[in-house]
Amino acid sequence: MNFFAIFGNPVSHSKSPLMHNLAFKGLGYDGCYGRYRLEKGEKLRETFFALGLKGINITVPHKEHAYRACDHLDPFAKKVGAVNTIVEKEGQLYGYNTDAPGFLKAISEFNNIKTVLFLGAGGTARSTSAILRDEGYAVTILNRSEKRLKSFKEEGFKTATFERFDYEPCDLVINMTSAGLEDDLLPAPQEILERVIPSAKACVDVIYGKETPFLKLAKSHGKTTKDGSDMLLYQGIIAFEHFTDQQFSFDEVKAFMVRAFTL
Ligand code: NDP
Repeated sequence: MNFFAIFGNPVSHSKSPLMHNLAFKGLGYDGCYGRYRLEKGEKLRETFFALGLKGINITVPHKEHAYRACDHLDPFAKKVGAVNTIVEKEGQLYGYNTDAPGFLKAISEFNNIKTVLFLGAGGTARSTSAILRDEGYAVTILNRSEKRLKSFKEEGFKTATFERFDYEPCDLVINMTSAGLEDDLLPAPQEILERVIPSAKACVDVIYGKETPFLKLAKSHGKTTKDGSDMLLYQGIIAFEHFTDQQFSFDEVKAFMVRAFTL
């Protein structure tokens, strides 16, 4: 049997064990997936080998440590500096980023989207903005503070803090912050949101499993909304494909993994 796990801190809330175990069972793959609360990111590699694992997913706050722990990096993971999936092959660790392609697939249901406004400039914004730009979307990054915007600016993204924001209409507004996750905060001042939401075709939140204040506000403007559940599901399916060496198709995995959201 091959053993897998999610590493993070905290990890008790994670749906990943349920998602992957449902797919292993449904597809008849001899695998088992658990969770491991890793306190020190520097210990990721030695913990992986000590537990005799075949693969892991990595969540907050260890995606950059995971990047440094790998022997080989997929080109996209290398570009964004963050790894959320590691697979062991012949004693070597191979790192991937499946958050960004999962997110891209999750928003693919929206048509005629050219301009996207990101609220937030953290790790998730970094990988997803890169893939969106590769796909031809124009992405603007709006963040409450200046520090994290620096690297986006250097990479040629249009950036602004709340104080410097010049309103331009955009097709999609996305909450990439953790505002609303464990509090009832909006990701940006209401005056700014009241200006950008009306011009948008849809509003998306990467937070899942609850209706955030941002999505509530978007709904009050009659907008189509979407939370982060599909992103979570799709990054999991893509990770599963890496874990099982592409033995199963996306749709085969999805049929079982999606049940984690209804149990
Ligand atoms: P980071 O800690 O790297 O970045 C947090 C960002 O949120 C920063 O830009 C920060 O701004 C901003 N922020 C935090 N609190 C507030 C607030 N009260 N008001 C305005 N801005 C705020 O987080 P991640 O990028 O790792 O995660 C972001 C979100 O994405 C989380 O909610 C996480 O749960 C979600 N996520 C969802 C996934 C899914 O599968 N659906 C996968 C991965 C992440 P500043 O720079 O000023 O501090």
